[in-house]
Amino acid sequence: MSKRTLFAGFDVVATMDADGRELRNGYVLVEGNRIVDVGDDAAGIEADEVVRGAGKLLLPGFVNTHHHLYQSLFRNVPGASEAKLFDWLVFLYERWKGLGEEAMRVASTIACSELLLSGATTTTDHCYLYPRDGGNVLVADIEGAQAAGIRFHPCRGSMSLSKKDGGLPPDSVVQTEDEILADCQRMIERYHDPEPLAMLRIALAPCSPFSVTFDLMRESVKLAEETGVLLHTHLAETRDEEAYCLRRSGMRPVDLMEELGWLRDDVWYAHLVVLDDADVAKLSSVKVGMAHCPSSNMILGSGIARVTEMKNTGIKIGLGVDGSASNDTSNMIREVRQAMLLQRVHYGADALTAREALRMATIGGARVLHREDEIGSIEVGKAADLIAFDLNDIALAGAHADPVAAIVHCAVDRVDFAMVNGDWRVRDGRLVDESILDLIPVHNRLSKELTGAA
Ligand SMILES: [Zn+2]
Repeated sequence: MSKRTLFAGFDVVATMDADGRELRNGYVLVEGNRIVDVGDDAAGIEADEVVRGAGKLLLPGFVNTHHHLYQSLFRNVPGASEAKLFDWLVFLYERWKGLGEEAMRVASTIACSELLLSGATTTTDHCYLYPRDGGNVLVADIEGAQAAGIRFHPCRGSMSLSKKDGGLPPDSVVQTEDEILADCQRMIERYHDPEPLAMLRIALAPCSPFSVTFDLMRESVKLAEETGVLLHTHLAETRDEEAYCLRRSGMRPVDLMEELGWLRDDVWYAHLVVLDDADVAKLSSVKVGMAHCPSSNMILGSGIARVTEMKNTGIKIGLGVDGSASNDTSNMIREVRQAMLLQRVHYGADALTAREALRMATIGGARVLHREDEIGSIEVGKAADLIAFDLNDIALAGAHADPVAAIVHCAVDRVDFAMVNGDWRVRDGRLVDESILDLIPVHNRLSKELTGAA
């Protein structure tokens, strides 16, 4: 029989289920990789291991819906830190083009570990950079994430439109449509796991309207339909992108996606900042997913997404930290706080509550990835993806009247523990596999080589 772990006596178990149940003195029983019981009195329940929860808050693990893991190598790069999106991209492509397998593997492990420490138990990675001499970076990406032990949704990204054809990236990082589609097919066959509680699922993700051909967008939809995988891309991030789409196609971004067959419920978009009312209605009617990335939108000065207006539409909203070249951190609990704060800047103090932001980071993200039956809430039958915060953290002193809101309102930035699929990844605020920390100097050396390479 599988190992039974009982999480007992937690001050609060915030389930994030449909009723938003919060159990005082709550317990969760895990068997193997699944939750088998949830309640508020653990008396008489036997288990192989008992995890005591006095002074702690238990939550479902966070789901990070947008990232570029390789970018932890490109944090805080002078020359990029104060640039808006298009200038930022053109500057960084010249550094990114040196990426190879070793750097990708190390960056993936480091970024996923930072996500785990800050509460994410599932992450996506929009991996769109395949330098000509870089080897197979997506395989290295997967190996790196597996070493960290996170539930992983790598997106086989792509760029097929270089400068000479009117796009933004340099020639050496774009591929032909045939190369891209063949590799997409190969990666799905080799890695995509459709089984319940899968640790690894592939999505297809042409990078953005300004770096791929329209033909590739259409072919990606066909391949996703044939293979049953999700689709992802960046959309409506900035005014510059809107102007670019109008110039190239005569259409604004959402209309262009409609033309290309991308308004579907198995698509999720990163950003969706620059939208008018008709765009929101279109996206809502087909129930697309959205990765809201508030820190990235603030750092690049892209704008404020209309989350407060969109939260009660058909659009599924999750949160994303986005790549560390446009956020400089992979900290998920901090992103939850940023989401709450940014909406209030525009819409007022009651725009978004701490609990609404936490729901976006959990069950909202699960819905974006079509996994709301498996992850994103603490319910019987779901995956044992659990995180806890220590309410005795100095940052939470005096905030105990509402422990759930406290982790968003106050400055907590690290979990007490994180379990993924029944396996411990963080305990006592530290990575269980501390050998991962030995990668930090390697990561620093690679980062220096790459950022100095241009
Ligand atoms: Zn992005």
